[in-house]
Amino acid sequence: MLRANYNWSLADRIDSYYQRYICGDYCDLKTKVVITPLTCSLGGATGNPWSNKGKKRSPVNIQITELPLLKKARPWYDEIDSTVLQQNLRRLDNAYNNFFQQNRGFPKFKNRSTFHSFTYSTGVKIKGNKIYLPKLGWVNFYNSRPIPDGFKIKSVTVRKKSNGYYVSVRIEDKAVPTFPLKNIEEVKTVTGLDMGLGKLVYCSDSSAIDNPRFATNKTTKRLQKIRQRRVSRKKKKSNNRRKSQKQLSGFQHRIAIKREANQWQTAKKIVQKSDAIAIEDLQISNMIKRCKPKYDKETGRFLKNGQSAKRALNRLIADASWYSLTQKIEYMAAKSGKIVLRVNPRHTSQECSVCHHIDPDNREGEKFLCTNCGHVDDANFQASINIKNKAINHYGLNVGKKFSKKVRRDLPEPKQLSLFQTPTSELTENKRRKHYALLSKRDVPGNLNEYAFQLSLFNQENNHPNRDSL
Ligand SMILES: [Zn+2]
Repeated sequence: MLRANYNWSLADRIDSYYQRYICGDYCDLKTKVVITPLTCSLGGATGNPWSNKGKKRSPVNIQITELPLLKKARPWYDEIDSTVLQQNLRRLDNAYNNFFQQNRGFPKFKNRSTFHSFTYSTGVKIKGNKIYLPKLGWVNFYNSRPIPDGFKIKSVTVRKKSNGYYVSVRIEDKAVPTFPLKNIEEVKTVTGLDMGLGKLVYCSDSSAIDNPRFATNKTTKRLQKIRQRRVSRKKKKSNNRRKSQKQLSGFQHRIAIKREANQWQTAKKIVQKSDAIAIEDLQISNMIKRCKPKYDKETGRFLKNGQSAKRALNRLIADASWYSLTQKIEYMAAKSGKIVLRVNPRHTSQECSVCHHIDPDNREGEKFLCTNCGHVDDANFQASINIKNKAINHYGLNVGKKFSKKVRRDLPEPKQLSLFQTPTSELTENKRRKHYALLSKRDVPGNLNEYAFQLSLFNQENNHPNRDSL
């Protein structure tokens, strides 16, 4: 019923747009009937765009005041709590606001697979392991987190997920002060973050956080493939297909909750590092776009466009889910009174942090070698330092040391030891061999991993134009 209401209200708003702005006063375009409250809610007598106080009413408010009329026409809506119906309309309004302000897509009509939640704004009570949902009654549930004393329930959302129904409760206590917000002048330390795939986060203090790859590691990729195949081989709309689909979505749900938990821990670790955190303002949806198709001009046939390789990369990027990680960092930062600074990502991976020379040739894969001053570093850490410096310059921060301690990097000596924080006794056989190979400066066989590339960084055999001046 809520889905029908949502879709009807969306159609109502679309219709009203056409009659108001394009077709004059006609309500029904086919019959050319003039606007009446019977045919269209937004244009009729009760759908007055002006409130009693003389202010212009928003479309969502018009639709909410129309609800009693709608309920008369559709008596079965009485089974739904009135606040749920109202929140349903607000949800549609949010979709419209996202479309106008956030540059997102136009609101869509919902089908069964895209509509699985509803929200109460009042009337919900919780007692021990029971929750009272208006019009549904007392329901047993698992009370995972008791509500602290003095807090009032503001709104409650019931959401259907693959393994059951979840309730999220928003609470408020006006006596509790809001989290303290730091002034930008008080910031003493900044950490720059560069998100990557080899490691999930590279910090400007030359530490890195591992990428757990919950969905794209070898085991889960294989399992996912098997379960997906089980679904697609079954007859459409059959019970067996539904069952195997349920298995698949449960599997994906478990991956998702693992990733969520890991991201909260990562965000907490990062926020503890310093007063402010600088991150790139990335447009990730642009990075995940498909390659453009290529045609042969004579035959009109499709040519290879590199999409199959891009797809693997896209999946890696989606699995790393940088955006939801940055959201969690922002949340944790706000909670602990710290600041998140957004930085323009332009040139962050091409600039030299020592002489500020910008050149796309500076970077070659994971290596960074400045074509101007010969500064050598890991490209990802270089980017994180650039992000930090950009934040300092852009926001005019009063940070004591502008750059991290200068280390002579022209010698092939340590630095890489910071990457080996695990003692050698804990390394696996394979890794230990690579570890010793690196220490003895032998070449490491196998594919390009962090050990191998560290070696090649300091090989000093780069065909570099300014090599003599190094
Ligand atoms: Zn340089």
